[in-house]
Amino acid sequence: MPTTASPHSPCAFGLLTAGGWQAGQGGSFETRNPAHPGQVVGRYAAAGADQVAQAVQAARPAQRAWAKCPPLERGAVVARWLDALGARRDEVARAIVLEQGKPLAEARAEFDKGLAEARMMIGLAARGHGEVMPAARPGFRNLVLRRPRGVIVAVCPWNFPVMTPLRKLAPALMYGNAVLIKPSEFTPAAACVVADSAWSFFPPGLVQVLNGDGAVGAALVGHEGVDGVTFTGSIATGRRIATAAAQTLAEVSLELGGKNAAIVNDADDLDAALDAISGAAFAVCGQRCTAISRIVVRRELHDAVAAGLVKRARALRLGDGLQPDTTAGPLIHAAHRDKVQGMVARARQAGAEVLTGGGFAQPASAPEGWFHEPTVLARVTTGMEVARDEIFGPVITLQSYADFDEALAIVNGVEHGLTAALFSDRQTLVQRFLDECETGMLHVNHGTVPDNHMPFGGIKHSGVGVYSSVGPSAIGFYTTEHAAYLKS
Ligand code: NAD
Repeated sequence: MPTTASPHSPCAFGLLTAGGWQAGQGGSFETRNPAHPGQVVGRYAAAGADQVAQAVQAARPAQRAWAKCPPLERGAVVARWLDALGARRDEVARAIVLEQGKPLAEARAEFDKGLAEARMMIGLAARGHGEVMPAARPGFRNLVLRRPRGVIVAVCPWNFPVMTPLRKLAPALMYGNAVLIKPSEFTPAAACVVADSAWSFFPPGLVQVLNGDGAVGAALVGHEGVDGVTFTGSIATGRRIATAAAQTLAEVSLELGGKNAAIVNDADDLDAALDAISGAAFAVCGQRCTAISRIVVRRELHDAVAAGLVKRARALRLGDGLQPDTTAGPLIHAAHRDKVQGMVARARQAGAEVLTGGGFAQPASAPEGWFHEPTVLARVTTGMEVARDEIFGPVITLQSYADFDEALAIVNGVEHGLTAALFSDRQTLVQRFLDECETGMLHVNHGTVPDNHMPFGGIKHSGVGVYSSVGPSAIGFYTTEHAAYLKS
């Protein structure tokens, strides 16, 4: 039986398969508390190659049985499962803090949002799945039908340990699929609890968890028995997954990194704008795909915006996420903290000015943790690495512009296209932003937090395929489309 996390006794999980929890044959691994790296908080058994193959095989009959369940009945089962999961909110939130490091309030908010999105999918998936089309020939009736896609592999990152698995599980199940979850090797506990809570509600094999690192993910993605791969993670891994899926011709949906900008052109209430920007920049310590990391500011407002952001960065209280006064946690691991630090150091060498932060931090509640100071960099130019590549840490850069053409050129001059914000009350600029900003999500006069029922995804190198998360686009990935011609 699995056990869940406490600071004193690490949680322990194997694999959740058609036969229930079992030991993995692919070796073992541990997770550590990023606020207290000496503390082991999870022990896991990774899936062996044979176990991956068996899991894919077992998913097929489970999926066929589940697909026969009428969608409204599926919704009733999923609703009961989500109620059972809801009762484990504290356990999941605590496990997230221990493995990922974010403050408890953020972990609870993540859980609540994940659950709300999943519940919303029940209603969405119960609506019409198909269409009646006009027929070209007399005596015909044309229908467009949808069926479950089949066996879905869901590969997850570490920054949202419960929301990402839920975003993939809820639409997959509602549309009649089986799901093989591959959690991040840094934060598997939350996904294990989610799947554990689902176990008794669904046919054996419909929801399985295969723990392990990228090798387990690659084995799943490369298996011929998989019909669809939904992946959330880095662009580099996304490329590998697309290459592997090109061999099996499985459908892919890739949700990848971002380099998200906020344009500050004019604001009646600059303080409110800066609150929204700093919230979107520093939540989860900047480790969100939708984090604002570039501030593109009209030259006349540069100094006021810089001062306001420095004040807000300094007001953050770094520390152990279980301490009630902590408002920003550590970075996920030492290598990531060093990567963030390296990018800041190279920016400084290239001429950027560090207005605040810039180095490692040692908060009193967690002095050995993998912390980086909230950092604001000015005099950043488009050629610099920090202006171009995803940092995924508590670092924001300032670039100023003379006119709106220049602002859009800066925002669009990166490979990413996930999300962006414009702060302006000028209609012409708002219209241009909606038409010309090259991102999948567009926000005017607020940060980059998405709603539960909207399409979620990116263009350019930030996303490939149908936006797969919850919301109205999910049906495009989790079902296949069929054109039917009925002659009387
Ligand atoms: P990552 O790409 O390193 O790992 C993600 C997952 O892929 C992990 O479970 C990992 O084990 C697995 N993996 C690694 N190699 C694999 C392979 N060859 N085949 C199959 N699976 C493999 O990403 P990460 O560091 O966990 O997450 C951070 C990244 O995720 C950031 O770039 C962030 O922007 C992105 N992200 C994007 C979104 C979005 O919706 N667009 C949301 C959250 C995070």
